[in-house]
Amino acid sequence: MTVGAGFKPARLPNPALHETVEGRATLAVHMEIFDISVPISKALPTYEGDPPIDLELWHSMARGDLADVRTLDMGVHSGTHLDAPSHFIPGGRTIDQVDLDTCYGPAQVLDLTAADTPLIGREQLAGSLAPDVVRVLLKTKNSGLWTRAEFDPSFVALAPDAAQYLVERGVRVIGIDYLSIAPFADPTTVHRVLLAAGVVILEGLNLSAVPAGHYTLACFPLRLAAAEAAPARAILIT
Ligand SMILES: [Zn+2]
Repeated sequence: MTVGAGFKPARLPNPALHETVEGRATLAVHMEIFDISVPISKALPTYEGDPPIDLELWHSMARGDLADVRTLDMGVHSGTHLDAPSHFIPGGRTIDQVDLDTCYGPAQVLDLTAADTPLIGREQLAGSLAPDVVRVLLKTKNSGLWTRAEFDPSFVALAPDAAQYLVERGVRVIGIDYLSIAPFADPTTVHRVLLAAGVVILEGLNLSAVPAGHYTLACFPLRLAAAEAAPARAILIT
């Protein structure tokens, strides 16, 4: 079973640009918003052992209620979400304590789809990172896994030496296009290296429509009190 056509990452025209005055119309040609979030629904796979997603009508106009009102029941690591340090570091910052300026600003997308290893190592990042980049998104073969109905533990992940390298480079946000930055066989090491250094992890992206390059990233987590993670709508603006 595939998840269906609605699952394609959206390339959205920026509606504000269509309202700009004539003299600024050329701006519209150069500006684009990529929605790199995955749609939250029952059909979305969740990390092995995490709860499934339930999005259900509570009140329903079709059943005679005044309005449609849904309930959402899911783990906070479902779909596109941010991990805060307290996910693996006792006493670390929680998601509502993450600086919002971390979640918005220049970002680099690296295209690692050609890599034939399930682990991204330091050497694969070293030659590609722009100087002073603080937000890095890793586009891998993982983006193709979102068409599968089931969680796939063979996803591409970061190696510990690469995580250490990102910390040394002063990276503040690291994103990846599946449900964990760390390999399935060892979820702890990479999370700890990054989160102990205060790096925010953006997981569950779909980067399949996004070329490598430089963008403005916006990925604000829901303000979940004292939680270790929260879902986010993530976009890239050219
Ligand atoms: Zn997570």
